[in-house]
Amino acid sequence: MTTNSSLISIQRSTDTKKKPPQDQLGFGIYYTDHMFVMDYSVGQGWHDPRIIPYQPLVLDPAAKVFHYGQTIFEGLKAYKTADDRIQLFRPRDNFQRMNRSNDRMSVPELDIDMAMAALEQLIAVDREWIPSLEGTSLYIRPFVIATQPTLGVAPSEHYQFIIIMSPVGAYYPEGINPVKIHVESDYVRAVPGGSGEAKTAGNYASALKSQQAAKEQGYTQVLWLDGKQHKYIEEVGSMNVFFKIGGTVYTPALTGSILHGITRDSVIRLLKHWGIPVEERMLAIDELYEAGRNGTLEEAFGTGTAAVISPIGEMNWNGEKLIIGEGKTGQLSKSVYDTLTGIQTGAVADPFGWTQQVEVIGK
Ligand SMILES: *Cc1c(COP(=O)(O)O)cnc(C)c1O
Repeated sequence: MTTNSSLISIQRSTDTKKKPPQDQLGFGIYYTDHMFVMDYSVGQGWHDPRIIPYQPLVLDPAAKVFHYGQTIFEGLKAYKTADDRIQLFRPRDNFQRMNRSNDRMSVPELDIDMAMAALEQLIAVDREWIPSLEGTSLYIRPFVIATQPTLGVAPSEHYQFIIIMSPVGAYYPEGINPVKIHVESDYVRAVPGGSGEAKTAGNYASALKSQQAAKEQGYTQVLWLDGKQHKYIEEVGSMNVFFKIGGTVYTPALTGSILHGITRDSVIRLLKHWGIPVEERMLAIDELYEAGRNGTLEEAFGTGTAAVISPIGEMNWNGEKLIIGEGKTGQLSKSVYDTLTGIQTGAVADPFGWTQQVEVIGK
């Protein structure tokens, strides 16, 4: 396996796309001029790393990814600092997690140095696409698909590793605002021994139905309970979740069906750094409601790369509503949001070594 980035071939796009206005980016709507692609075949390993103009894929309709969902993805962001540097936030953690997802889905492992070199080169080529307006960033979507055109249910012998990038808008253009959450009592997202820990397509496709039902009832997201007893809190939508109860911050322990969020880990470390008690443990939904009723539930928020922090102002569990922090963004949620986004954009010092600068040679 090579980690020499000079082996990545670059074919530059001849017609650069018009960039959308930075206050109208939305999420995952526009894509940069280039993409990274690398192939895998049994016997040959990963080969032919290349940066090419952004374009549709040509795949055989029998490609295994379409039928059996052998695919994984990642999500991370690049930020433009006020002094015009480019920063990534814990990118190696994303590629490490990608390999854990790969392992779970029988996808061959990727060399993390190679993936980092590919990402840095791609960002350098498309650096003009990183927006600079407050709250904006360049969302990066690495993914692997199984491309072998045979219908037998078996791990594919051919794959593609692809990175695409999308300039995304401010998640909270009108300031950080709490969301209303529907507690899902029927459907589950993940089960013990299942694929909940992996960022793999099927987990998200099977979550759409409850998400849609929640939306129809006026809720932004679903709070998932464990797949066995429908009792313990797991995640909120595609975010990890935190609750501040009686001065201590709780988040569900990583029991196997919960995604290992990098934002989750960053929040835990930040809280510990601040001397705020934080506990990873199983948290029952009735325990949370009890804390809500007796007034000790102070704050609740989701964590993930897209929103960073998403405060929860209201929950509904089997028709019983729980208003959290008067439906307003709590002080701790706000501090965590400001600090993490500050570190990511270079406005706040990074004592954790989380940010990594992307060097653009000849800039
Ligand atoms: C990606 C994801 C998260 C958040 O992970 P981050 O690394 O913080 O972005 C949480 N839950 C699910 C289900 C996810 O897919």
